[in-house]
Amino acid sequence: MSEGTQKKQEQPRRFQAIKGTRDLLPPETALWIRVEQTAHEVFGTFGFGEIRLPIFEPTELFARAVGGETDIVSKEMYGFPKKLEILRRATTDQIGQVNTPTKIHMFAQSLAVLVLNLEQALNAGEIPATESNRHLIGQLKKISEETIVFWRSLNWEPSGKWTELFGTASELIKNLEIERLEESFSLRPEATASVCRAYIEHNMNQLPQPVKLYYMGPMFRRERPQKGRYRQFYQIGAEVLGGSDAPAIDAEVIEMVMTFFERLWLEGVQLHINSIGDKNCRPKYVEQLREELRKVKDKLGPDSQRRIETNPLRVLDSKVESEQAIIEKLPRIAQHLCDACRENYDEVKRQLALRGIVYTQNFRLVRGLDYYMRTTFEITAKGLGSQNAVCGGGRYDGLVEMLGGPPTKGIGFAIGEDRLILSLQEGGKALGPQGRDVYIAWMGEKAYTAAIQAAKNLRMAGFSVELPPVEQKFGKALGQADKLGARYALILGDNEVTSGEWTLKTLATGEQGKFREPDLLDFLGKSEKRSE
Ligand code: ATP
Ligand code: MG
Repeated sequence: MSEGTQKKQEQPRRFQAIKGTRDLLPPETALWIRVEQTAHEVFGTFGFGEIRLPIFEPTELFARAVGGETDIVSKEMYGFPKKLEILRRATTDQIGQVNTPTKIHMFAQSLAVLVLNLEQALNAGEIPATESNRHLIGQLKKISEETIVFWRSLNWEPSGKWTELFGTASELIKNLEIERLEESFSLRPEATASVCRAYIEHNMNQLPQPVKLYYMGPMFRRERPQKGRYRQFYQIGAEVLGGSDAPAIDAEVIEMVMTFFERLWLEGVQLHINSIGDKNCRPKYVEQLREELRKVKDKLGPDSQRRIETNPLRVLDSKVESEQAIIEKLPRIAQHLCDACRENYDEVKRQLALRGIVYTQNFRLVRGLDYYMRTTFEITAKGLGSQNAVCGGGRYDGLVEMLGGPPTKGIGFAIGEDRLILSLQEGGKALGPQGRDVYIAWMGEKAYTAAIQAAKNLRMAGFSVELPPVEQKFGKALGQADKLGARYALILGDNEVTSGEWTLKTLATGEQGKFREPDLLDFLGKSEKRSE
């Protein structure tokens, strides 16, 4: 083989982030840190505590909480295949063909892996440790070991012994009930379901009510990636669970998000609110809406046509250009709220006004799921094109109960952090590259020891310091300091150390000053740090 072809073959694969996922890099991550820090601070001042949740949960939790018919659950969720089920099939699929030495070897291996995983699952409590399961797994382990012994003894002529062994294995595997027992997991597409699960699991209804929690972290949805829409994206959200459903709570939750956005100087913020009624008045409205939609069915696109029967409220959500004029003329929920819901909505608006919060009423703001009720809201910001919603929220008084908990009031929101960051960047709020405060240019063994100590002291005082790991000429070191955007270079040679007079150079102006070590910290302390 020529050298050329050999090289070509050995090119290692260059990996890329999976479609819809991305790396967040410095200096952009500095903005993410600031946003998250601000959330911790602002939410803390409203009495919210942070909850950290698992990234994956039982698929059924999301199916129940988000709804089996929603886009999220029906097509956007990332699930883990059931591992034991796959291993079981991989093993049983081979049974009919175990007639050559290679195939016997492959079968023995699959069986050994299956047994190992079954034992692990049994010990971890992932499948119930019933007598029957224990017995079946024990028998399979024996066959697996026997097969390997046979294989080693090279006694592999086709014989009745093999047929009998595999027949038994096949029977045993069939009797395992892992399909029913093994839980299916999914990556979380949102976090409200998990917060409610945690509220129930930890009996938080016994704490003083309401319980106010917030979270931040990645969510996963298999959508078409585009600007402001990713498959791994980040949300910052909060939930108020338990206690009363006083309109002041709805208003305060909204006030909290608005305060957060204000603190970040987010531009073009618009709050849209609506009330979608409750189980008394909404069903009647939905029926009326459906009737009106049937009359104009021919003028609607295929998606909206389908939704007339499945979920007419979602037609209001449509972005299809030709449907807009029709939607304007449809009956609006505001005119169909029952007295209790209308009073509640009026009070929410009054409470918002008391807090000086400006809003627009938007009759098209709906949530398709049954347990959403009354207040819904959405916040948009500038610079985001058609994905301009940075926050969605609403009241969901029925959710905790639907997940097996006690009847519990609930309201919350989720902010799309990626879009929030995009909008801040569009508004010129991006942070510049973060340079160092001090670059230590050192030469000589004595200077190096002093430099390590100086770096330690400066970092302790909060300065960002670059200490080059190997000796270099002062000229080169100063060039390096410039490239890193350092503000000062501290010049340390053995002479400086002996004399105790250190040189500090301000890189922007070229000014130099001599300092004794304690005075240096003092001088720097009076100048601003990069990290501030
Ligand atoms: P959209 O109508 O934009 O798809 P949604 O109704 O699916 O939003 P929610 O489930 O209410 O969104 O999530 C709250 C917020 O999370 C949204 O307002 C948005 O800012 C953000 N978000 C939702 N999906 C994505 C995604 N795939 N990529 C980035 N951000 C997202
Ligand atoms: Mg969506």
